[in-house]
Amino acid sequence: MRVLVVEDDALLGDAIQAGLRQKGFVVDWERDGAAADIALKAATYAAAVLDIGLPRRSGLEVLASLRARKDPVPVLILTARDTFEDRIAGLDAGADDYLVKPFDLGELAARLRALTRRGGGSASPALIVGALALDPATREVTWRGRPTHLSRKEFTLLHAFMLNPGRVMTREQLEDKLYGWGEEIGSNAMEVHLHHLRRKIFPGVVQTLRGVGYVLPKDLA
Ligand code: CA
Repeated sequence: MRVLVVEDDALLGDAIQAGLRQKGFVVDWERDGAAADIALKAATYAAAVLDIGLPRRSGLEVLASLRARKDPVPVLILTARDTFEDRIAGLDAGADDYLVKPFDLGELAARLRALTRRGGGSASPALIVGALALDPATREVTWRGRPTHLSRKEFTLLHAFMLNPGRVMTREQLEDKLYGWGEEIGSNAMEVHLHHLRRKIFPGVVQTLRGVGYVLPKDLA
């Protein structure tokens, strides 16, 4: 089960990520609200753990835009002990649950499992293009039935293509999906990830249209 953790406190974020991983979750960790926005648009999560006090965009702002675009992902907010108003505002803004810091990691894991059950198996269905399949919930990718292990960036890139089969994507559109704000983008980084995708899946999985962009053919076989 893939969850997004948004927490700017390095020690706490690290502890949550490690603790949830130990309990079998796949965990992405973002440290500010703007990066959280991007992650939530780029990937499908079973649930999100959202701190309220965040740099760039507050947790409440992230939550409000999430619900404004009708994203139903279950959200658990983290609040400080003395901020009762935050809790109310969070629940009003569409949070499904909350925990007050400090909290027990076992309790966080249990609440997340409950939230995703309540979601009623709303995990997004696998995307299938020809002989290529990608499950956003489990992050499994298979090519001709054979599992393919992709890095996080490679997965994100392939996910973007598979949401738009046959459509030309510009380098800018793809980089938007791959990188959080302020993240350094090497000039060849995209090409490197594409190279790996082609090597791991097959060379024609993504075609380069010089000076235009990139496309995943609709008829992959
Ligand atoms: Ca914080």
